[in-house]
Amino acid sequence: MPATTEPAPLAELTRQDPELADLIAGEATRQAHSLQLIAAENFTSPAVLEALGSPLANKYAEGYPGARHHGGCELVDMAERIAIDRAKALFGAEHVNVQAHSGSSAVLAAYAVLLRPGDTVLAMGLPSGGHLTHGSPANFSGRWFDFVPYGVDPESGLIDYDQVRAVARAHRPKAIVCGSISYPRHIDYAAFRAIADDVGAYLIADAAHPIGLVAGGAAPNPVPYADIVCATTHKVLRGPRGGMLLCRAELADRVDRAVFPFTQGGAQMHTIAAKAVAFGEAAQPAFSGYAHQVVANARTLAGALAEEGFAVTTGGTDTHLVTVDPAPLGVLSQSARGRLASSGMVLDICALPHGDGRGLRLGTAAITTQGMREAETARIAALLSGVVRGDLDPRTTREEVRELAVRFPPYAVG
Ligand SMILES: *Cc1c(COP(=O)(O)O)cnc(C)c1O
Repeated sequence: MPATTEPAPLAELTRQDPELADLIAGEATRQAHSLQLIAAENFTSPAVLEALGSPLANKYAEGYPGARHHGGCELVDMAERIAIDRAKALFGAEHVNVQAHSGSSAVLAAYAVLLRPGDTVLAMGLPSGGHLTHGSPANFSGRWFDFVPYGVDPESGLIDYDQVRAVARAHRPKAIVCGSISYPRHIDYAAFRAIADDVGAYLIADAAHPIGLVAGGAAPNPVPYADIVCATTHKVLRGPRGGMLLCRAELADRVDRAVFPFTQGGAQMHTIAAKAVAFGEAAQPAFSGYAHQVVANARTLAGALAEEGFAVTTGGTDTHLVTVDPAPLGVLSQSARGRLASSGMVLDICALPHGDGRGLRLGTAAITTQGMREAETARIAALLSGVVRGDLDPRTTREEVRELAVRFPPYAVG
C-alpha cells in the first residue's frame, strides 16, 4: 500500500454530489493534518474502508448465518462466519456475536440477557469513568435499572477492590459491570470475578477500550472471567464502527436473541465483513507490535506530561489512555482543550473524580497507527504543554503539528 495522505478518490460522488464529496475530502484532510488524540479513535486500514464501502451495504440479512429471514444470504453468511471464527480465535471465546451495531448496543444486549428491569447493578460511577450505559440518568440504563456506583480511590485514582466488595455486599447486585471510558490501568478481572461470586452476581466486562490491546497481547483478557464481554471494534482494535459480545457456549443462544430480534433488526453485512477484515489484521504478528507500541507511547506521554507539571491520574498508564488535570499549571481543562484545538491537537474533556471534576483524556491509538513512536510522542507532549501553559502560540504550533502529522500519513499502514 503506497503511503498517501489523500483518501481514495471520490470520483462518482464528486460528479454527483460535490457538496458531500468536498465535506468528506475536507474531513480526510483534517484527520491527516492534525493530531488525533481522542482515546476512542483510530485509523482503519484501507482494506477495512473498502469492505465498508462495498455492495454488502445493500444486503438485508435478518437472523444468523444459515437461519436468515431473507434470501440471497449465502455469501454474507460466509462473511459473518469468518468474522465470528476469527474473533473466537483472537480472544479465546466459545461464542461471539458480531452483529451489535455499536458498543452501546452490545451493552444493551448484555443487560437484556442477564437482567430484568428494576434489577440492581454495580458499575463504576460516571464521575470516576463509567460509560453512559453504566447507569446515566440520560440513558436507558439509568432509567430501567437500579445502578449503584463504585468509585476509585481519590488519592491514587485506582480501583479500590475492597470498596467494590463492600458496596457489592451491601447492595447484593444482580450484575457487576467492570470497564470504563477513561481508567488508564489494567482491570483485575479475577478480582471482579471473585467479588461477583462472593455476592452471587453476574460479571459483565465492558472492554470497549482495551479489547484492541487484548487482541495484541498488551492487556489482560476478560473473556475467561466475565459471563459476557461487551466490546467495540473501532477503538484500539482499529476496525469499523461497531460492537460485539463474547461469551461461553451456554449463553450463546440468549446473547444472539438479545441482539436480534430483541434489540436490533437486520445485521449490517458491510460492517460485519469489515469486522472480519479487522480481526484478520489483528491476528497478524504486526498487530501485537502495534498494541505494545500504543502502550509504550502512552507511557511516554504520561511521563512527559507529569514532568511538565500536569497531574497525571494514577501517576501513569498501562494502556493507550492517559488522563491529566492541567489545574497545577493554572489552566482549566475546558480552556486547555480550546487552545489545543486551535493548535491542531484534538482530544476530549473527561470527568475526573477529584479537583474541579474535569480533566483531559488522551489516547495514543491513532498516532501509533500512523507510525509515531516515543520520539514523536515526546514532541507532542512538549507542544501540548507549551500550548496549555501559554508559552507557545497556537498558530505557529498549528504549523508544526501539521508538519508532524503529514510526515506520518494515516493510510500508509496496511
Ligand atoms: C466506547 C464505549 C462504549 C460505547 O461504544 P459506542 O460504539 O460509542 O456505543 C461503551 N462502553 C465503554 C466503556 C466505552 O468506552
